[in-house]
Amino acid sequence: MNIEWIEQELRRLREANLFRKVRVRQSPHVGGLIQVDSRNLIDFSSNDYLALAADERLIEAAFHTARQVGWGSGASPLVSGNGVWHQRLESELANFEGQKAALLFSSGFAANLSTIATLVGAGDRIFSDQWNHASIIDGCRLSGAAISIYRHCDIDHLSQLLETETNGGRKLIVTDSLFSMDGDFAPLGKLCDLAEKHGAMVMVDEAHATGIYGRSGRGLCEALGVEDRVSAKVGTLSKAFGGSGGFVVGNQSLIDLVRHRGRAYMFSTAIPEACAASSLAALEIIDSEPERRFQLLDSARNICEQLRTANFNLGTSASYIIPVIVGAEQTAIEWSKRLLEFGVFVPAIRPPTVPLGSSRLRISLNASHSASQLNHLVESLISLQAAKR
Ligand SMILES: *Cc1c(COP(=O)(O)O)cnc(C)c1O
Repeated sequence: MNIEWIEQELRRLREANLFRKVRVRQSPHVGGLIQVDSRNLIDFSSNDYLALAADERLIEAAFHTARQVGWGSGASPLVSGNGVWHQRLESELANFEGQKAALLFSSGFAANLSTIATLVGAGDRIFSDQWNHASIIDGCRLSGAAISIYRHCDIDHLSQLLETETNGGRKLIVTDSLFSMDGDFAPLGKLCDLAEKHGAMVMVDEAHATGIYGRSGRGLCEALGVEDRVSAKVGTLSKAFGGSGGFVVGNQSLIDLVRHRGRAYMFSTAIPEACAASSLAALEIIDSEPERRFQLLDSARNICEQLRTANFNLGTSASYIIPVIVGAEQTAIEWSKRLLEFGVFVPAIRPPTVPLGSSRLRISLNASHSASQLNHLVESLISLQAAKR
């Protein structure tokens, strides 16, 4: 079969401490708790920031809708997969985002692939933050455009690249708004200044920020006042929305073109309408219960302050995504294991997700964590630190 090389590759991963085992979760994410590998743990691993993934109202909406319209969508949206609930969600998402139109995808990953490959192609150039999400990186490669990578959030470096690396085609600056492994913000205002100076489009991936930042919870583009200066915004229904699916929002012509060019849209079955219905329920909750996001932001400020006071290296984190950077791959794994003994689940993040030598524990807070759960996290980390000395 000529596949002996696969064993060798796997051996190499094991030797480098990079081999991954998939854990089995045996409970919903609820009340800040989780059951994995038969243990009950306080959960700091999920992106369910507003604690909606197990909300009764989302479940009820999905159940009710599935009863009415069935489960599977049966086809891609352009054939016969697009149902009433997809239509409603697209229109409500556009509304919520203060944009003209929205387009649904089976995932945020797919939304990034198709949006980038629609905006640019061969002969064009992308300027991409060094630490952008994998789906942005893959979208850039897929597009066939030339790619210039600027140092993380480094406006001077981006400016220099915009001056020197041009090839006459369209230009696209693409960035996460809230970076998923560092919890820091892209300098969106300055990015837009540069884009305007150089005639470039700006695309922002708000996967981790939608539902939380900004007056209405649209994300960091809203919070930083750049919504009118951004050409395309991608979001996901799988994080703060507590469900599954992705979307892009923008003006009508952008959305129309993505519908004609986005292969991950055209050649992929529409998400179940029940999913769309439960995301509509999530959207209503995001609108009507802002206290959820205030609670989350409060917890984030608190924990960051306590951990920084205790001399942990949180890098540039400014949010509810809080990395505790420990360096070596093996150290991250050990700390994560020791935390399990305290009943705390914080995953270790290693290369290729983060650069070699910057392995970390990634703490991800959500609106349902109680004060005592948060205290227990801080105390557990501090006792690990003391044991190390
Ligand atoms: C999670 C994530 C995605 C992908 O979204 P899914 O809906 O999970 O596929 C895209 N971009 C960023 C920055 C993400 O963190």
